[in-house]
Amino acid sequence: MAFMFKVRYLFITVLTAATLVFTQGCGDKNSFSDYETDLIGTDSTAGIMRVLKVNNKQDVTVLRGVSLPFTREDLRSDLFRILKKRMLATVLDTANPGVGIAAPQVGISRRLVAVQRFDKPGEPFEFYANIYVKESSPGKKYGWEGCLSIPDKRDTVLRSEWIIISYTDEATFTEKSDTVSGFTAVIFQHETDHLEGILYTDRTESVKTALPKTDSLKTKPVPNKQ
Ligand SMILES: [Zn+2]
Repeated sequence: MAFMFKVRYLFITVLTAATLVFTQGCGDKNSFSDYETDLIGTDSTAGIMRVLKVNNKQDVTVLRGVSLPFTREDLRSDLFRILKKRMLATVLDTANPGVGIAAPQVGISRRLVAVQRFDKPGEPFEFYANIYVKESSPGKKYGWEGCLSIPDKRDTVLRSEWIIISYTDEATFTEKSDTVSGFTAVIFQHETDHLEGILYTDRTESVKTALPKTDSLKTKPVPNKQ
């Protein structure tokens, strides 16, 4: 079995290398699939995308999947620019507004999130490609969360008080880091969980048994869907 695994692994490695050579050989060819290309579309004026929900079986398959990273060519493509624009329109939708959104929530299994930076002047939405949490504080806090993909539900979740995120700079394709704390750090943790197929409801069980809801936890920011 171990041998077969090695052969398979070798085959995948060779195939990946061949794909990379092929991709580079084709100049600025991006790695978006036909499905992703169709879903994002080429209309740069297109708006809101459908938000995937946990009460739809097909949607759950995507919401539970692990997202793939972007290549340099992806980040330079029109598709990436349109995807960001449409994700922003979706998270700002007045019918279902949120404070953050992850690409899988609109059906694109890629490592991209938009987070409202409550820790910056003007509280702008910012996008982070190929993001992951590099370090988490041992100190944790309970806070209220909701999710655009989980209708009519909110709950308390235990999250690190600060985190260090790592992501790819879209212009230079270099890795950048940022230290984030407070409610904005909660949004980042919620959104990066989406990229691993994790939903906040996966993290609430221990809270229900370990901590009765206190008055302080009833004070929740509005809106706080992510
Ligand atoms: Zn969510």
